[in-house]
Amino acid sequence: MKTEPRMVARVFRAHGELCASHPWEVIVATLTLTACMLTVDQQSQQADRGAPAPHAQHAQHASAQRRCGLSPAACFPIEEYNAADMIVMTLIRCVAVLYSYYQFCNLHRLGSKYILGIAGLFTVFSSFVFSSSVINFTRSDVSDLKDALFFFLLLIDLSKASLLAQFALSSRSQQEVRQNIARGMAALGPTITLDTVVETLVIGVGMLSGVRRLEVLCCFACMSVIVNYVVFMTFYPACLSLILELSRSGEGGRPAWHDKSLIMRALHEEDQKPNPVVQRVKVIMSAGLMLVHAHSRWTFASEGEEGPVPPLVAREHTMSNHTEDVALHGYLMKWLTVSADHIVILILLLALTVKFIFFEEKKSEDLAEQLLLGDRSVITPSPAKHQEMAPDLKDAGPPQWPSSTDGWVEVGPSQEDKFVQTESTVEAEVAIEKIEELISKASPEVKGDSEPRSLEECMALYKSEAGAKALTDTEVLLLVTNKKIAAYQLEQAVGDPERGVSLRRRIISSMPNIGHALTDLPFRHYDYSKVMGACCENVVGYVPVPVGIAGPLKLDDALYHVPLATTEGCLVASTNRGCRALLRGGVRSSVVADGMTRGPVVRFESITRASEARLWMLSTENFQAMKKSFDSTSRFARLNKLHICIAGRHLFIRFVATTGDAMGMNMLSKGTEVALKYVQKHFPDMEILSLSGNFCTDKKPAAVNWIEGRGKSVVCEAVVPADVVETVLKTSTAALVDVNISKNMIGSAVAGSIGGFNAHAANLVTAVFIATGQDPAQVVGSSNCMTLMEPWGKDGRDLYISCTMPSIEIGTVGGGTVLAPQGACLDLLGVRGPNEDCPGENAVQLARIVCATVLAGELSLMSALTAGHLVRSHLTHNRSSVTQLPKGVSLDTAKSKS
Ligand code: NAP
Repeated sequence: MKTEPRMVARVFRAHGELCASHPWEVIVATLTLTACMLTVDQQSQQADRGAPAPHAQHAQHASAQRRCGLSPAACFPIEEYNAADMIVMTLIRCVAVLYSYYQFCNLHRLGSKYILGIAGLFTVFSSFVFSSSVINFTRSDVSDLKDALFFFLLLIDLSKASLLAQFALSSRSQQEVRQNIARGMAALGPTITLDTVVETLVIGVGMLSGVRRLEVLCCFACMSVIVNYVVFMTFYPACLSLILELSRSGEGGRPAWHDKSLIMRALHEEDQKPNPVVQRVKVIMSAGLMLVHAHSRWTFASEGEEGPVPPLVAREHTMSNHTEDVALHGYLMKWLTVSADHIVILILLLALTVKFIFFEEKKSEDLAEQLLLGDRSVITPSPAKHQEMAPDLKDAGPPQWPSSTDGWVEVGPSQEDKFVQTESTVEAEVAIEKIEELISKASPEVKGDSEPRSLEECMALYKSEAGAKALTDTEVLLLVTNKKIAAYQLEQAVGDPERGVSLRRRIISSMPNIGHALTDLPFRHYDYSKVMGACCENVVGYVPVPVGIAGPLKLDDALYHVPLATTEGCLVASTNRGCRALLRGGVRSSVVADGMTRGPVVRFESITRASEARLWMLSTENFQAMKKSFDSTSRFARLNKLHICIAGRHLFIRFVATTGDAMGMNMLSKGTEVALKYVQKHFPDMEILSLSGNFCTDKKPAAVNWIEGRGKSVVCEAVVPADVVETVLKTSTAALVDVNISKNMIGSAVAGSIGGFNAHAANLVTAVFIATGQDPAQVVGSSNCMTLMEPWGKDGRDLYISCTMPSIEIGTVGGGTVLAPQGACLDLLGVRGPNEDCPGENAVQLARIVCATVLAGELSLMSALTAGHLVRSHLTHNRSSVTQLPKGVSLDTAKSKS
């Protein structure tokens, strides 16, 4: 049962996609059809004039009658109005004008000139088609059109058209425009179709009434409904797509409509889904009405066939002939005749125009202000409003922001600055959130309350059981401004990480020179629960980084697809080539050492005491005691070695420990602290200056890591057959070895490098680190690498390559590895989380993969350098067209301008 609506929606979606992706075709087809409709009518009129045989005219009337679907009397109403008619028609016209005005104001309030324009276009084109239909069906009696157009105004529903426009305007690219139009059609199409059927059938009942005037009115109404529907389903989506395509601000640029239509982003497809109960009622109603229509029409038809021509038909024949005889000036006279009803309509129109021009602008401003109420008062308040709503705000100063060390620091501008600087951003953001609030299912007393309560009330609510959940965003920001809630604790305070992040973004956006800066930084749909208290503070969003795959990489006889997070073009492609070259022989790896380090600095009163302490710690017995206290801090951290250096009366003690599957920095810190406390018991004069004395050495280039190793010390080797060197790497072993010695050995020595005897190990280390949630700053030590190459085999044409990386600081537990996307990349390599069977194995395996990937990268880049391909491939793959200078602008002119 549930699949049926989905199927219907899919049909409408496909239809919408067709219209949006072929706008020109659809528009031309619709225009052609409209023109045909008019032409066919004219031709038939000409034919009638050429052959006015009574039977032909009769046939034509009969045909008009069939097409019109109502009695002939209703089709050709030429009798003068009586007084009652005039009053009724004047009322209808007034209602139609007022209704149009109301719809127009509603659209105007949305604040998008695009919506107004597009809906206007829809109206104009619909009315054009409608007028054509009326002229066609009523055989060009202009007086009918005069009445008909008011019916058209009364029945046209711009809300659906503006909804579809909102769907389209919520797009960021033309492709998205098409998709969103299709989505909109899928959401709106079924409802509109059913509504059209129901409306037509219901109104159609009036056409069976036999009351001439009612029949005319119902005929117009039916036509209006049908024309609206046809235009909405064809011409309109095509035009929408075309207009938005044409209004894009330049190639690759932000769509021109985008900023204005930020509020449209809050549209939810779900909200457009019809109520199934109402839908069912409509279907049942339609079925019943169809029966009524079928029965009535059948009865009339039977009567017509069997009996004599009814008097009504006979009368209509006369009237029709009369109509055809009316000259053009007669029509014009009808149009121009000023009667009482015309005067009424004219006055109404004038009054509405005056109201709109002089009063509506003011009213809509007030409305907008109400919409932004409070949020603006906190972030970009107007001074008067600000004072009136939140007296405490004025003195509270800007929202406080924590520094990493000392809690609060002042970052906000003066209130006056804030009033003007970022109003548009904040308005847009607040409007989005306001609409989200309106469409969310949240409790009305919390979200629907736009008038902020007093500071005291807010504070009381915040401290109550309900907490910040009972407060609106405005009220929470009021508490932040008044230092009742720390800005860095927003997530905990509101008990909803995403809401906390969103509030912080608003605070940041209100600061000087920030404006729209955060607009393109995503923040929704992210699991902040894993971030809070573990990975990041003061969160305002996340930066998506592209992830590519290099591989398969054959390592120790297993194949790996290595995820590389990077924005450097060429890197993945180049590494991929390296993996391909290594596929036949594969890479072998060996982990030669494993030990994370922490090196505190302690001080004694003399070098004698420092030396004594050093010897004491190095004795096996005391080391074991220290190890015992260190190991007690973790199930996995195990102290293996102490490396102690003396410098005057200072001691630098490098604790070296295995840390299971964790990178281990926190574990080391914890264990070191406890072990030092134990030493202090024996050397009370030992002064612990810092838990980290830079002898660790963490996140800084240092020879100690290169020589002693840190984290995992890994070596990888591979033999690349000569034919692979020539066909895949496009070079020769001799040339590669030569360049490797010149560049990676001599060149690095000349540069005074420590651990940098490689081409670009850091490239691969960084890309794997970011993809797998490692601490990216540890790339500094982790990319220590020496790449060696030798001729291999009997004739020396094969290539032997090795990479030695003594300090890969890496883990599969803790840090950023807990985040879902990073976890997925670890999963890809089969090393996610702790290794239950053999703790530490996952981290070791990841270190092997990093080293082997570096080897693949070294192989490929060195080959490119040797063959002279580097510049060419970088220009092809690594130059973004976005950053290139516009046509006609040379570097010189650009420089001179700047
Ligand atoms: P951690 O997340 O602080 O500690 C690892 C946790 O995982 C421990 O609680 C450990 O249990 C548990 N665990 C469960 N199974 C495990 C297994 N198989 N192997 C190892 N541990 C296992 O991780 P960390 O590596 O020590 O620290 C990483 C974090 O430190 C990163 O966020 C990094 O950015 C940060 N960091 C800190 C410093 C610093 O100076 N403190 C420097 C650089 C980076 P136990 O409790 O039993 O040990």
